[in-house]
Amino acid sequence: MNAAVQAPTPVMAQYLAAKEAQPDALLFFRMGDFYELFFDDARTAAGALDIALTKRGQHAGEEIPMCGVPAHAAESYIARLVRKGFRVAICEQMEDPAEARKRGSKAVVRREVIRVITPGTLTEDTLLDPRAACRLAALVYGAGGLEAALAWADVSTGEFAVMAASPQRLVDEAAGLSIGEVLLVDSTLDRPASRALAALAGAVTPRPAIKADARSAERALLEGFQVGSLDGFGAFERIELSALGLVYDYIRSTQAGALPRLSPPVRLETLAVMAIDATTRASLEIERTQRGTREGSLLAALDRTVTAAGGRLLAGWLARPLVSVPDIAARHDAVAVLLEDAGLRASLRAGLRGAPDLSRALARLQLGRGGPRDLAAVRAALQAAGRLAAARPPSLPGLLEAAMGRLDPVAVPALSRLVADLERALVDEPGLLARDGGFIAPGADATLDEARALRDDARGLIAALTAEISQETGQNLKIKYNGLFGFFIEATPKQAEALMAPPLNATFIHRQTLAGAVRFTTSRLIELDSKVSRAGEMALARELELFAALVEAVQGAEAPLRAAADALALVDVVQGLADWAEEASAVRPQLDESTQLVASAARHPVVEGMLRRTGGVFTANGAALDGAGEAGARLTLVTGPNMAGKSTYLRQVALLAVMAQAGSFVPAARLELGIVDRVFSRVGASDDLSRGQSTFMVEMVETAAILNRAGPRALVILDEIGRGTATYDGLAIAWAVAEHLHDVNRCRALFATHYHELTILSERLGACANVSLRAREWKDGLVFLHEVTPGPADRSYGVQVARLAGLPARAVERARAVLGALENGAGPARPGSLDDLPLFAAFTPPPPAPAVLAAPAAPTALELALADVDPDSLSPREALDLIYALKKLGTEG
Ligand code: ATP
Repeated sequence: MNAAVQAPTPVMAQYLAAKEAQPDALLFFRMGDFYELFFDDARTAAGALDIALTKRGQHAGEEIPMCGVPAHAAESYIARLVRKGFRVAICEQMEDPAEARKRGSKAVVRREVIRVITPGTLTEDTLLDPRAACRLAALVYGAGGLEAALAWADVSTGEFAVMAASPQRLVDEAAGLSIGEVLLVDSTLDRPASRALAALAGAVTPRPAIKADARSAERALLEGFQVGSLDGFGAFERIELSALGLVYDYIRSTQAGALPRLSPPVRLETLAVMAIDATTRASLEIERTQRGTREGSLLAALDRTVTAAGGRLLAGWLARPLVSVPDIAARHDAVAVLLEDAGLRASLRAGLRGAPDLSRALARLQLGRGGPRDLAAVRAALQAAGRLAAARPPSLPGLLEAAMGRLDPVAVPALSRLVADLERALVDEPGLLARDGGFIAPGADATLDEARALRDDARGLIAALTAEISQETGQNLKIKYNGLFGFFIEATPKQAEALMAPPLNATFIHRQTLAGAVRFTTSRLIELDSKVSRAGEMALARELELFAALVEAVQGAEAPLRAAADALALVDVVQGLADWAEEASAVRPQLDESTQLVASAARHPVVEGMLRRTGGVFTANGAALDGAGEAGARLTLVTGPNMAGKSTYLRQVALLAVMAQAGSFVPAARLELGIVDRVFSRVGASDDLSRGQSTFMVEMVETAAILNRAGPRALVILDEIGRGTATYDGLAIAWAVAEHLHDVNRCRALFATHYHELTILSERLGACANVSLRAREWKDGLVFLHEVTPGPADRSYGVQVARLAGLPARAVERARAVLGALENGAGPARPGSLDDLPLFAAFTPPPPAPAVLAAPAAPTALELALADVDPDSLSPREALDLIYALKKLGTEG
């Protein structure tokens, strides 16, 4: 028979069947102590993990590429693959090889895919960032595409929620949810919202439309949550059911069909949270800086939580500020109490310290993936809860009072029973895996104690039995051990005579006669022998039984445990915000339904923190905006030199609103804020190469989004809009945008600009004011005062700033000369009289220094080519091509 047509070996056939069911995942195929990968999976994984690619046997006449990782270290390899965006299917051995052998020497060990690990369905600590959520989301469109639903779940904590709104709004919402993977119906992959969501999540998994069928989704949820109707969880629309179903079904498929362990779905109202789109989040650096680090973000500046779950909840609060005055006030009430009562705060902090990640431990135990260490985490978390409850004063504001109630083991008997069980049962520091044993404390279980005593104390038991039989027979007998017989009693031939005669022969059973010794056993010794030899196994089996019982007890207390986990996180966030408020001398903002924003002596929480660390001082500034145009200007134009602090000021005002509505105090002497329903922040000139759009195009698309979407309750900050194009075009656009914001959007807005010409708008528009950041010239240099004062800036000092930045003196001088010429009539004095200005015709250039600047007689090919270039019309790709072309011209010329 030809090798090419030879049937695969039974193991290979098993592998191929498993792989066929998991075409999109790297299949980790368990073989003894290793997970092996074959064929293309092996090539891919070996490359991605930088491990050796080897070969094993043949398939269809070809050698089979293979690579493998040791099972005990697999998690770290899987982590690396998942981080690189791969999905990993785990195909496990489902029986002992000895079991398989019983079916015949050729029988193959039974193997099954027990789980598919994807970026959005992680539960392992090694794969998760402790301080960030990792959510799986699904976006489903309604007929017509105007309405959509976004459902998401965090498998590591059980969170499960859905929201319906316009696709665009849901993308904004998703931007604040730290989504690790998004599910989209395959026919909708190309829609703009799908693409935006895919860019946010990184990993996209297309699903067939049938998986989003609302009716089957409802059925699956009813079955999964074992209820007759979902009405008790919320009044879900069909589209919401579709999105929930898509998530639910996918999690189920990654858990080899096991029912996902999620909290009942929650239906959220988009109108209940401040809308912040992805660009605004990035520009305000709420959770991450523009460089992608947590360090330097608003979240990092405010985060004084001591637990991972607290850190995650704070991120959630800042990512999704509220819009209901009473709900926000409830958070402020809680922070206020802990700010005032430093003693209580300190004891809560102390109580929380060391509290492990209850929700993630719980999720692992729920999924059958937990170990003894997760049980210990539940114990430690409940102990922390007990400490907090003990520190509880007689009266607390609503949020804290409710949280404390959910924490108090006295108030929740299920928890007090559970913590008592766990305290009694577990050793101080149990290991990671149940199968290693050794995690149940001595004294917790008589059967286990006996098994362990047998295992550990065999010698003592034998000694005791030796003494016993010696006394009984009046002879000096010994108990010995060998591999063949196990334990036996050894007698001299003389002693043996007595043992073989009545009455002792009723007890002593003859086993073997050797030259100088006779061997016996007794029923007690047989029993002891089998007990001892099985004691290790028994101890472990008993421990596993006890483990299962404890896991069941934890599962039985799921609801109060989840509530306690949430309560711990809440107390942590509140104490953290109070701690920060004290350190930053922050105050409680006053919120109402007006459209005001009046701040005095406000600071930027991140820049201030950075300056403080380097010994600098932040200059506090006020702001007064009013949508109604009564208490302040609706639109404030901010001018001032480069580096004066315009961007900092703008962001600081937006961050005040985000912080205040998230429930935090604010770094200011005072803040009166009418609820903001949406924040927009745009900074001119930021390329989006991944979208293949030029700087200016991105800027305009984003500006268009604001002008089309900002309502009267929005807060808009625009920084240098219109700079990415020719001067007049840019000025004209900036002008029109400012007018539109003032007249049409009628929202609170700050607009920073270098176009001084814009400042005359305040004369033409009723609710528009100018402020400027001051700088003072000082001995040929410039001192930035970072102080916001009413009125426009007198000039822009761009040339001075360029000098400070180290532009060569010659270039600075030249710039001064050009500026002088422009200011003396060549430049646009007022936009009203904008004629096309021949920018460089108005002055006579000074003669160039001969050695350096001697101009060539005729322009080179390179110069000619350059003269034709219009940078603003180029896409990044075209720009790159152009550089190559120019380089080629340059080297040729
Ligand atoms: P450009 O026009 O060049 O973008 P800008 O006017 O927007 O400049 P910022 O980027 O806001 O200036 O600020 C420049 C630097 O000045 C900041 O990095 C910060 O260190 C400092 N700064 C800004 N505001 C203040 C302030 N209120 N108090 C103290 N230092 C400040």
